Amino acid sequence: DLEQNQEGNLVPTYQNSQVLRAVPYDVPQIGFQNDVVNNLRLWDVEIPEDQETLYPSLESRRAIQDITAILYPDDSTLEGKQLRLIQEYFMTSAGLQTIIKHYLKQGTPLEDIYKKVSVHINDTHPAVAPAEFMRLLVDDYGLEWDQAWKATVNTMSYTNHTIMSEALEKWDAELFKKVLPRVYQIILEIDNRFVAELGKAGYDADVVNNTRIVKDDQIHMANLAIIGGHSVNGVAKLHTELLKEDTLKSFYKLYPEKFNNKTNGIVTRRWTQIAAPELSSAIDQFIGNGWRTDIHELEGLSTYLDDQEALGTFYQVKKDAKERLANYIKETTGFQVSTDAIFDVQVKRLHAYKRQLLNVLHIIKLYLDLKDNPDKDMVPRVFIFGAKAAPGYHFAKSVIKIINELASLINNDEGLEGKLHVFFLENYNVSLAELIIPAADVSEQISLASKEASGTSNMKFMMTGAITLATLDGANIEIKDEVGDDNIVIFGMDKDAVYNHYRLNDYHSRDLYDNDPLIHRVIDSFVNGTIPNIQSEGMEIYEALIQHNDEYFLLEDFHSYIEAQEKIDRLYRNKAEWAQITLKNIAKSHKFTADDTIVQYAKEIWELKK
Ligand SMILES: *Cc1c(COP(=O)(O)O)cnc(C)c1O
Repeated sequence: DLEQNQEGNLVPTYQNSQVLRAVPYDVPQIGFQNDVVNNLRLWDVEIPEDQETLYPSLESRRAIQDITAILYPDDSTLEGKQLRLIQEYFMTSAGLQTIIKHYLKQGTPLEDIYKKVSVHINDTHPAVAPAEFMRLLVDDYGLEWDQAWKATVNTMSYTNHTIMSEALEKWDAELFKKVLPRVYQIILEIDNRFVAELGKAGYDADVVNNTRIVKDDQIHMANLAIIGGHSVNGVAKLHTELLKEDTLKSFYKLYPEKFNNKTNGIVTRRWTQIAAPELSSAIDQFIGNGWRTDIHELEGLSTYLDDQEALGTFYQVKKDAKERLANYIKETTGFQVSTDAIFDVQVKRLHAYKRQLLNVLHIIKLYLDLKDNPDKDMVPRVFIFGAKAAPGYHFAKSVIKIINELASLINNDEGLEGKLHVFFLENYNVSLAELIIPAADVSEQISLASKEASGTSNMKFMMTGAITLATLDGANIEIKDEVGDDNIVIFGMDKDAVYNHYRLNDYHSRDLYDNDPLIHRVIDSFVNGTIPNIQSEGMEIYEALIQHNDEYFLLEDFHSYIEAQEKIDRLYRNKAEWAQITLKNIAKSHKFTADDTIVQYAKEIWELKK
């Protein structure tokens, strides 16, 4: 409803609203030897004291706690979707409310807030921010719409993290209206004004349709973030190009000046000094310890590429890290692996586009090779997987099940004479990543070209001396540009080849299956009992690859991937060459420091001065 306030303005009033208290928990973030401590503010939810009687049951109190208790609530049910929307709104609103209160303590006018404050929308999860900021400025602080809009657009900026439309949040308008009726009204108003403006400027219906916030009873959160902010960036060069020429093409027509790239980076301290202490000592030994505060000094390792002592030292450092991981594998699985084997690692969220299944196809191929010919000449391999899957993601869980069954089949087959091992290490998280990544010889970055926005584990592996086995996707391209073609192993379709298939609609996985005996044999092993205990999962994978036409083109890339893996095998046999490639990778990895990425955000988007 609307009510007249003391100034005679109409202000909205809430009927039957739920009031929750947001409680800040401040977590200091201590800089490395720079006398800086930043604050990370986390939010908990509490029932306000005067509202206790509204929550008599344990169940009703639990429902409130769930708002902040669960990270990424399962949104496969309507209930889960609603919880997730409430969570996203709760965190976003709490953040914006403290930001405004903090700003006002300065005594400067609220309409100038953008001169001192930047709010960055990291992915679509907090993309309600422009609408909520408008609500606060207009309803709670009495700014005029146009004044508030100027402040909002100049305050907000947005990072896109994926081109995959399933991952760009869209809310059902009915649900949104039910949960957040006033914010919904504001979004409609923003959308109406936006559409009217485009109409006046003479844009055609297509542009309007591709960019407006509300359409087909859905609220497109990325569109709200782009319209309600002054900057939109991708997270690697290829990704930003794809945003401009494809995913957000119509927005690029409207607002070319909003678009920019910020290639992701990694926290170098964690992935060297914390995760790889032996590596860090070895680096000190050759170039001193200045790199610990200025990572660009790693470039100094380039002068040791022909130094046999240095190459030997770094080779041994990797062996020590492999030994540590081998001990962990022994403790957690009972199997002993040799550190002379190639440690071939794929650790990342489980997703079809990341193509863990392509890795699996290759492992099956090696297994079948060894069953045909136990004397096959190959460097022993230890394949290591780590992955988390979203709770409602059925396909991902099937892939995990298959990897585990394949691992059990292979690890228990003494006829393989230790040439092949497979492990799926449980509960992949940052602590486990710190153990696994420095122990990798091969970094698997095998997403379908165009689908991985950037990747960051590719950078962590590079910095700790693994060789990247990759498609030309995300930041892999920028890694290749740094190390040169001879110090990375690239395979598969590039983005243009992938887009050509989309344009021509000419990919037919069944033809590859029917006409290629190797592909046929490997695929059949999912459904013919070769791998035990995967009846339903094997059928699901078979259907995805053959009946549903292999959405991520695994079969087309399979032979090229095998050849790349054979190249890895050849390279590894030459210790000196392998050591040289890995050292070059370490020396060039400083390019991917997040410190520099953050400086670029600060200068080019937030207009912060150091
Ligand atoms: C770095 C990291 C990721 C991201 O990995 P990508 O391969 O870039 O997708 C995911 N999970 C953990 C625990 C990580 O450390």
